Parts: sequence; structure tokens; C-alpha cells
Amino acid sequence: MLEEKVLTFKDFGLSNEVLRAVASMGFEVPTPIQEKTIPVLLAGRDIIGQAQTGTGKTAAFGIPIVERIDKSLRGVQAIILAPTRELAVQAAEEMNKIGRPKGLHALPVYGGTSILRQINALKKGVHIVVGTPGRVLDHIERKTLDLKGVKVVVLDEADEMLDMGFVDDITRILKETPAQRQTMLFSATMPEGILRIAKRYMTSPEKIRIAGDTLTAPKIDQVFYEVREERKLDALSRLIDSNDEGRFLVFCHTKRDVDDVASNLKLRGYEADAMHGDFTQAQRESVLKKFRDSRVDVLVATDVAARGLDISDISHVVNYAIPQNPESYVHRVGRTGRAGRGGVAVTFVTPREERQLRLIKTVSKADIKRGKLPTGEEVLTARISNLKNRIQEFIDDKRFDKFLKVASEMTADIPPMEALAALLKFQLEGLSSGPAEEIPQADSGAAYGMARLFMTVGREQGIRAADIVDAISKKAGIPKDSVKGINIFDTFTFVDVPANAAEKVIEFMHQSIISGRKVAVSTARPRGSSGGSEKYGRKPFRAR
Ligand code: AMP
Repeated sequence: MLEEKVLTFKDFGLSNEVLRAVASMGFEVPTPIQEKTIPVLLAGRDIIGQAQTGTGKTAAFGIPIVERIDKSLRGVQAIILAPTRELAVQAAEEMNKIGRPKGLHALPVYGGTSILRQINALKKGVHIVVGTPGRVLDHIERKTLDLKGVKVVVLDEADEMLDMGFVDDITRILKETPAQRQTMLFSATMPEGILRIAKRYMTSPEKIRIAGDTLTAPKIDQVFYEVREERKLDALSRLIDSNDEGRFLVFCHTKRDVDDVASNLKLRGYEADAMHGDFTQAQRESVLKKFRDSRVDVLVATDVAARGLDISDISHVVNYAIPQNPESYVHRVGRTGRAGRGGVAVTFVTPREERQLRLIKTVSKADIKRGKLPTGEEVLTARISNLKNRIQEFIDDKRFDKFLKVASEMTADIPPMEALAALLKFQLEGLSSGPAEEIPQADSGAAYGMARLFMTVGREQGIRAADIVDAISKKAGIPKDSVKGINIFDTFTFVDVPANAAEKVIEFMHQSIISGRKVAVSTARPRGSSGGSEKYGRKPFRAR
């Protein structure tokens, strides 16, 4: 199905540890910036990369860094400078993931928070430091950070750091590192100041640019919503709710995200399914068939999985994760609006991805307008209008004889308007605790002193009670016999843990991997608590 030869991470000749990390992060193929930079960096050369957040640049420098670090040496071997605390934390998280199988540790250091905790962490020994320039310099001056053993320096979002007035701090930090280091500079733009730093502190750097200036996005409605990462699922739910008849193709970067989003949508009652590179041909066919037959109307996929997909009636393409390059944007949105039908392309943009959006807009010449997510009220209005149309279809069809008797009995006791209003409420807002098969009443209470938790993994994923006990006990450090009341359902599980350990268990287990799957963990809702479509409430009328 894939015509062109796709480069894989194996083609770079990476170590098994890094290949394992990449696989567990759910990356299928390298992004364009990774394709270009990883071989150059592995060869030990300096690099100037023109790329912004959202392109996969952290792994582009992170993978070669992890390969270069010698675990047996003590002391910091790589330092990454980033303009903001948020970016430092995110890059450190990504570095920790890439370095985990090799046993490496990355620490974020930034201002505005306790320096003592950072000092203690540094004392324990870390291989990689990701920091904002001011705080890094602070540590150097306190002699709590020694850069003499540094092999690699990264200046991430260099233009931003310059704009923020960090140029002197950066040059002072660079002088603390050995001259024979490898230096990597990433910047969305290349102003004079950047080129000066490059000239002075880098050795014949290779310049890498992800270009592409002859693209045109198809003429369909294109909007973007500014959404924080943690609100994306709610935003997607809203979109689906307000387009009851819609058929959605949702794109995520990684296989894990695809699994995650699809299973969370299912939990919320949507007819959703996933598709990614781990699927066999038979599984792909089966998902596609469900989508074609309208048994599934939200398909969540990675770029790779969606390549070559032959489905024509997609009303909405949703970039749940912003495309890593303009080409990918154009390919993705081209999946809708086919065969002369209208289509909508929606892109979720987190605040730090605005530059990537700008690049996509410029290169693809796409007219992507800022949109406002529908409010709860607007969603309801749209659903009522849809419901009215559907009811009219049923009225025209007149095949409801078997319900006439009960309708007449009910309207004898209840005024017709109230009966109808109650039915509408039932239909549009659902039962207070969601659908019976999803939140079984018998299993929603915890024993005294225990807290009941809810996890998004179940029988369909082959999970066993012993796996859950092991994972919780190991990750949260609580005894195995304190984990009780396990109830495994098709796609989710309930489990009781001691109430005073519940927070800790959620902290360690949420987003962790159990039996190869990322799970979401939260406190189970108490019996009879009010539900709504934002949580497990089902949208009964979508069932076709
Ligand atoms: P960054 O540009 O480093 O902020 O990365 C943007 C997002 O893309 C992050 O969530 C990464 O984990 C993800 N990512 C990086 N490389 C890949 C890849 N090869 N395949 C899929 N996702 C990736």
C-alpha cells in the first residue's frame, strides 16, 4: 500500500536501547527533521536546524545525545538550553523517555522554584540537564553544576532565547563547556544574532532546513482551535457532539496517543476505533469495514496508518496533534472534501505550537482561520435540531405501532409535554450514571478505608488481575495484598486501593504502561453521581 520507501529508525543504525525507547514512545517513522538531522548528529557534526516545536525536533537531537552518553561516567554529559520553564520540562520528559531503556536520567532546571531541590537532584548525578539559561548559570556559579564533562550542548529555540535577552548567559555557559563539544542549534528563524553565535561557537555546522514551498492545501473550511493539551479530549467530544452526522478522521502523532484517544472516546460513548502501524492487514480491513458501514464514525489514526486509506466520505479531519510538517498537513486535510463534497479540517493548537501553525499556513498557503469551540449550549442546540429531524423521519416512517399502547398509557398519567421533555432529556443527556454496560452499579462502591479507582484497560486488551496487582504494587510501592476488589470489564477495570495511598497510585499509574498499553487512571465516580456527555455519558442517538 505504501509506494515510496519509508525510512525507519532502524535505518539509522541505532542501539537496541534507543530503538526500544522509540518503539515504546509509539513513534513509527522518523519525522522529516529527524530524517535529516539524526545521521549528521550521529556522525558527530555540529548542526543548525531550522525547525520549531511540533516537528519532532526534541527527539531529533535527543536520540543522538542518548547514543553519545556513556552511562558509566559520572557527571553531566549533555546540556540543553531552552527559553522557558515549560519547554525545559517538556524536553526533559522526552529525554527521559528516550534515555530510559539505557538507564539515563535528565533533569529540568528552571527559575521560579526551589533551587535546593534541584541541587539535591544534581548531587545524585544526572546525565542530561535541560535548563533555562538564567538558572543554569546560577547553578554554575554555586558550583552545583559542573559542565567540564559535557560532550553535547543544545541551544533549543535559540531565537526565542535571544529575544528574551539571554545572549550573554548563553555565551557564558558555552565557555564553561569543553571546546571539543558537539553543538546543536535549533531555531525557527535565523536572525543575525543567531548566525553570530553559530560562527563564534560552532565548528563548520551543517545547516538543515525543512523546506517545502510548492504546496497548496485543498479548498475546504480550515479552522484551528487553541486548546491546551489536557482539554483536547473535551474539545474533540464537543466537535463530535455538535456534528451528530459527522464522520471524523482524527490524527495523532504516536500509536500510544491513537490508542489513548480512541479508547477514551469509546469510554465516553462514541463509536470510535483506532488504526496504526501495529495493526495487521486483517485488523486494518476490519476497522475500515466498520468505518465504511458506519458502525464506527470516528477513526483515530497515525499519519502512516492513514496513508493509502481509501475512504471517501470523511466530513471532518481533526489534527488532534498538529502536523509535524506542512506536507503532512496538506496530506491530512486532503482526506476530506473529496468527490466534490464539503469538508472541514480542524487543527488543535496548544499555545506553544503557534509558530508551527504559522509555518504550516505560510508554506501550504492555507487559509486556516481561528475558530471558537462550540459551547455546551450550542452543542445542545445542534443536537436538538438533529434529533428533531431524525424524529420526523420516524414519524414519516410510521412504524411505531408497538409503542402506541405504552405512549397512550403514559400520556394518560403524564401530560404529553412533560413526557416528551423527559424523553428528550433522557435521550440527550443520558442516564445519570451512564450506560448500564459501562458503569455497572454493583461495582462502583469501595470497601471501608479503601478508594475505588478506574483504569482504561480491560479484558479486550488481555489484562489479568495479576498484571494489575503487580503494576500497582511495583509502581506505587504498596504491598500486593493491599490491592483488592479487582473487576475487569471489556475495556476498563475497577480496583480498590487503601484510601490513603490512592493519590500516590494515581500519580504513578496514570499514563503508565500496563501490558504494553498506556492507561488513564482516575478515582471511580461514586454511585449515582450525575454524569454528562463530558464523562461516560453515551450519545444514544449516534447508534445507527
Ligand atoms: P517536538 O517538536 O519535539 O515538540 O515534538 C512534537 C511531538 O511529536 C512530541 O509529542 C513528540 O513526542 C512527537 N514525536 C516526535 N518524533 C516523532 C515521530 N517520529 N513519530 C511520532 N511522533 C513523534
